Amino acid sequence: MIISIASGKGGTGKTTIATILALSIDNSVQFLDCDVEEPNAHIFLKPEIKQSKAISIPVPKIDHSKCNFCGRCAEVCAYNALAVLKDKVLTFPHLCHGCGGCSLLCPQRAITEVNKEIGVVEIGNSANLQFIHGRLNIGEVMSPPLIRAVKEYINPTRIVIIDAPPGTSCPVIESIKGSNFCILVTEPTPFGLNDLILAVGVLEKLHISYGVIVNRSDIGDDKVDLYCQRKNIPILMHIPFDKEIALLYSRGIPIVKEKKEYIDKFQDMFSRIKKKILKIS
Ligand code: SF4
Ligand code: SF4
Repeated sequence: MIISIASGKGGTGKTTIATILALSIDNSVQFLDCDVEEPNAHIFLKPEIKQSKAISIPVPKIDHSKCNFCGRCAEVCAYNALAVLKDKVLTFPHLCHGCGGCSLLCPQRAITEVNKEIGVVEIGNSANLQFIHGRLNIGEVMSPPLIRAVKEYINPTRIVIIDAPPGTSCPVIESIKGSNFCILVTEPTPFGLNDLILAVGVLEKLHISYGVIVNRSDIGDDKVDLYCQRKNIPILMHIPFDKEIALLYSRGIPIVKEKKEYIDKFQDMFSRIKKKILKIS
């Protein structure tokens, strides 16, 4: 069972919710932090990292002694990672998605592939929770291959919780696709509503069932609630603003360690999600 936690924008408390959920479920959980550009779930879960694996993608290397500067490689590259000049082929490895198209289609066989490291996957444990996250190298922009590498560790026999990156772009889609359910975390502000609408659009396209948590539910207006009512979107929980939660967050202390009442609330939410996934009425 795979449950992802996403949010149309950053700063909504997505990671807090993901870690509370993981720590509230008794069964052994596998936690995947797919927010590889800024992974921070480890701050709260404090795993002991036992294994680390460098992740690379293949990028083109041009043999100019074979190249006739026909321009085919630049034509086939959908990501503008190659430019063919009169007597030189320029490569832009940071734009390359490692698809292999250019080397496959080069008529002169002038392109070979070399590995470029983009980041690392780290695996560890925190009590009975298995923890896996990716860390993208500084300056690197190609997060989807690293997210795929993190997701290769998914064990379908466990309850898998995925902390997705914020937003609605490719890394988010890569993180949440294949999930049985997605929890969208938002806040009751105009920005929160706008980004929630975008995230809902993505989930509907991916045919993933979802529900909403309204975090800091008492700080804004009721437009998020009204939107969810209109669209028949289940609101899984309202979490009012709580200074104590903010303080615990700033100290990297898991909320459920100090505020035990959240364990019951999250366990109850998990059983409702489980019933939805297993289609139990
Ligand atoms: S496709 Fe091959 S031969 Fe043509 S410009 Fe690119 S590297 Fe050179
Ligand atoms: S491997 Fe794919 S993305 Fe990279 S340069 Fe070649 S065609 Fe472009």
